[in-house]
Amino acid sequence: MKAQPAASHFIDGAFVEDTAGAPIEVIYSATGEVIARLHEATPALIDRALAAAARAQAEWAAVRPVDRARILRRAADLIRDRAEELARLEALDTGKPIQETRVADWPSGADALEYFAGLAPTVTGETIPLGRDFIYTLREPLGVCVGIGAWNYPSQIACWKSAPALALGNAMVFKPSEVTPLGALKLAEIYAEAGLPAGLFNVVQGRGAVGATLVTDARVAKVSLTGSVPTGRKVYAAAAEGMRHVTMELGGKSPLIIFDDANLEDAVGAALMANFYSAGQVCSNGTRVFVQKGLKDAFLARVKARAQAIVMGDPLDDATQMGPLVSEPQLDKVMGYIEIAKREGARLVTGGARADLNTGYYVQPTVFADVTDEMTLAREEVFGPVMAVLDFDTEAEAIARANATEFGLAAGVFTADLTRAHRVISQLQAGTCWINAYNLTPVEGPFGGNKTSGVGRENGHAAVQHYTQVKSVYVGMGPVDASF
Ligand code: NAD
Repeated sequence: MKAQPAASHFIDGAFVEDTAGAPIEVIYSATGEVIARLHEATPALIDRALAAAARAQAEWAAVRPVDRARILRRAADLIRDRAEELARLEALDTGKPIQETRVADWPSGADALEYFAGLAPTVTGETIPLGRDFIYTLREPLGVCVGIGAWNYPSQIACWKSAPALALGNAMVFKPSEVTPLGALKLAEIYAEAGLPAGLFNVVQGRGAVGATLVTDARVAKVSLTGSVPTGRKVYAAAAEGMRHVTMELGGKSPLIIFDDANLEDAVGAALMANFYSAGQVCSNGTRVFVQKGLKDAFLARVKARAQAIVMGDPLDDATQMGPLVSEPQLDKVMGYIEIAKREGARLVTGGARADLNTGYYVQPTVFADVTDEMTLAREEVFGPVMAVLDFDTEAEAIARANATEFGLAAGVFTADLTRAHRVISQLQAGTCWINAYNLTPVEGPFGGNKTSGVGRENGHAAVQHYTQVKSVYVGMGPVDASF
């Protein structure tokens, strides 16, 4: 199995290689096989990418928004035309089942391109009358934006960041995760084919140090990171030095609160999707499932039965519902958390071990019950297929415990009581919430976190504020009233 791209980087409209950069091996996590060999970007290549972006952005900002939009729409069409090839590449890059990558990853990316292509030409300033004089405002691009991606949704992240950036007149230098570097290169190729001028979307590969170099470069106006909270703290602090704009899409330990009156099968289905989709490697996962005591036994019985029916196997097999974790270090981390949960007294309902497939970094869908707020499993992000079920008595208790975390990415509520649903959601400290649904993130809706889970929002109209800045222009229409 090979997925070797033409070169490691895409800079100023062309694939570029420099073997002086440290090697990066791309592993197919279903087998451990090396599927591509890349190199980190050297300082000279990083400089070239930023210089190209700065040059190209100056011209791009002057292009009429509908003309920019047409290119993005063409790119969205190319993504859809190549759906199967891209779904396969994403499965190889991440180890996620092709069942998922066909419907979630690139399709969501194409939606973002189409959405921001439609939105950008509608972005306007305002006129503020002052009697004789007036002020008008312009919404201008920020300039060169840096995008840094996590490994769980590599193509979607590249699209969610680049689509609003480009549509609104910015350029981007994107650094994918070193674990999943392939999708972003494909996106660069597609943008070029769609007619995006050279230099506007550049991809440089590398580990954290390459990201850190980008974040502090004087040419950079904005940094958008998707990653963990510890990385977010470093990147936010580094960006602050130059007063750069930031969007931080970070981790979570999100609560999913299920009341006694909820539809059981829907609540179970949502809890399974909120913990086992992408083998649990989703930032907004509902990893603290609070179940009201009256429903607890029935809920656990159904969760167990449905979790045990999940089909694991080769991500490229159409029948596979859950693939391996993305890498061996991630496997070790998740198995470590499972051991801690057992040691701390959580009750194992199902799973709890590596899946016996003789290959790859597979972990069984795992459910722990009787989890308490103090346990490590209830406090730290595992990023694997591990569901923690906690039980509760009252609404007030559930809200207080759901909020007792440093994170605030997402939250969900299942109940048949309409007023309770809205009342509970209004009190939850989370940026992205669901009622009787979970983890649906269409591009139309703003997405992002509160508290340590992040700042800023991706998607929706909200993203416009994060890729533009307001210029306020006072127009004097009469003589200057000078005091001196
Ligand atoms: P990570 O924080 O280890 O790495 C994220 C990216 O930051 C990588 O590209 C990495 O190379 C880069 N990086 C690391 N150190 C850096 C530094 N000092 N300066 C600049 N860049 C640096 O995260 P990960 O393990 O790749 O991804 C998993 C994490 O991402 C989880 O915590 C998950 O919750 C989070 N995530 C959040 C969202 C969201 O939208 N909120 C989405 C997906 C993943």
